[in-house]
Order: sequence, then C-alpha cells, then structure tokens
Amino acid sequence: MAPVAILIFLAIAGILAAIAIPSFVKARDIAMRQECVNNLKQIDSAKQSAALEHNYKAGAIIPEDQVSKYLNGGMHGMVCPKGGNYTPNPLGREPECSIHGSLSEAGQSSGSPAKVSKVTGAEAAPQPQR
Ligand SMILES: [Zn+2]
Repeated sequence: MAPVAILIFLAIAGILAAIAIPSFVKARDIAMRQECVNNLKQIDSAKQSAALEHNYKAGAIIPEDQVSKYLNGGMHGMVCPKGGNYTPNPLGREPECSIHGSLSEAGQSSGSPAKVSKVTGAEAAPQPQR
C-alpha cells in the first residue's frame, strides 16, 4: 500500500510543479525586463541631463563619459540582468539593450499588467478619480 501512496504523491507533486514552474519562469522574465527598463530610463535621463549641460542638439552623439557622470556607477554600473549590452544612441533616439531592444520596446512585454492597463480604456478610466 505504501509504494502506491508514494507514487500518487509523486504524481501530484509532478503535476503541481508542471503548473507552477512556467509561471515562476515568466515572473522572473518580467522582473528582469522591468529592471532593464529601469536602467534604460536612467540612461535616457542621464543622456538628457548631459545634453542640457553641454547644449547638444537632436541627433548629437553624446560622449559616454558625459552620460556616465549622471549615472550612479557610470555606464558600466548599468547592467542588464540578462546580460545585454546598452547603447546610449544619439540624442533623440531611445537608448537600447541588445536583448530587450529600445526603451519603448522593452516596456511592452507581452502579458505584463502595465500593458494591459494601457490598452484597455475601461481599466484606465477609473484611476484618475482616486
Ligand atoms: Zn536588457
């Protein structure tokens, strides 16, 4: 009787793991993407600050050391959790991650709650009343 109970327990544990593991992986992916988006936002605002300080016009390539000045830990302190490389891009173009893409591309992850609330107007409408 005991070996049968063990088999049943293992089968149930296997089914639960099969249900839970994909959602853990997805949640981790979303968290990594969000961290990357935060890094890209910091790089973008550092770029804007450097452009203001040195009076750069749109399309200007801002030297990395001037962008680094406005980042905690510099450009090398900005590390994509998935190992992508960041490209600051000229002024007027969003910074990019080699894995997650540009700032607006990376911000639109499929299935993320942020995108759902942006797309459906019914969900976004009640929020200003709070
Ligand atoms: Zn990234």
